[in-house]
Amino acid sequence: MSTLWRHEVDDWLRRALPGRCAFCLAACEPGSPWCGDCHAALPWNRMACPTCAEPLPATLLATMAPRPCGHCLRRPPAFQRARVPLRYEDEVAGLMQRFKFNASPRAGTLLLALLEEGLAGVASPQALIAVPLHPRRARERGFDQGRWLAERLAARLEVPLIMARRRKDTPSQRGLDRGGRRGNLRRAFDVAAPLPPRVALLDDVMTTGATLDALARACRRAGAEEIEAWAIARTSLGHG
Ligand SMILES: [Zn+2]
Ligand SMILES: [Zn+2]
Repeated sequence: MSTLWRHEVDDWLRRALPGRCAFCLAACEPGSPWCGDCHAALPWNRMACPTCAEPLPATLLATMAPRPCGHCLRRPPAFQRARVPLRYEDEVAGLMQRFKFNASPRAGTLLLALLEEGLAGVASPQALIAVPLHPRRARERGFDQGRWLAERLAARLEVPLIMARRRKDTPSQRGLDRGGRRGNLRRAFDVAAPLPPRVALLDDVMTTGATLDALARACRRAGAEEIEAWAIARTSLGHG
């Protein structure tokens, strides 16, 4: 964990709104970007499938440690583990919208700080691999939020960032079910070989995991052996 980076974020947030919670604007502890109540109220994804980070139904939680979900048992993804600290709900969905569609660096910085908190204590990979933006969406929006995040996280972890390439202009994933997404993405990515054995993939929002699964397959072809999938927030659209 780089304290240098941490200070950079904290300084940035303090300059943005000194002494105020980023969510409710109440006064908060010096140096903290948010107040304790807002931090506690965020939609944390603590009880989730350890393999794909799918939020688990609350009824399962009281008596057992999280176990792989049915999808992962039937058809394990090409990555061994997903780490996605938040659910795509409430304040987190709002921040993500501002980050993606308004290119708000303040929202991006908050999301990155939350991701950093979720990754505390996790061993650094030997390289970070970012999901490339869909070329058509890059033209429409002009802001590559995935790259923005990945560059900052790679610098913080002091690991090389490797940008994957899209092999073809895959149609949008929106509206496709799990099987459709997988088929749509088969061999969608290329990663320059050779990769080191331990890598982490980074996306902003993880939906069914099909994109990260396809990227993990490309990383395997390029020599990676231990692959983690990281994202800031997880939807639970994969249920059902
Ligand atoms: Zn607050
Ligand atoms: Zn799972």
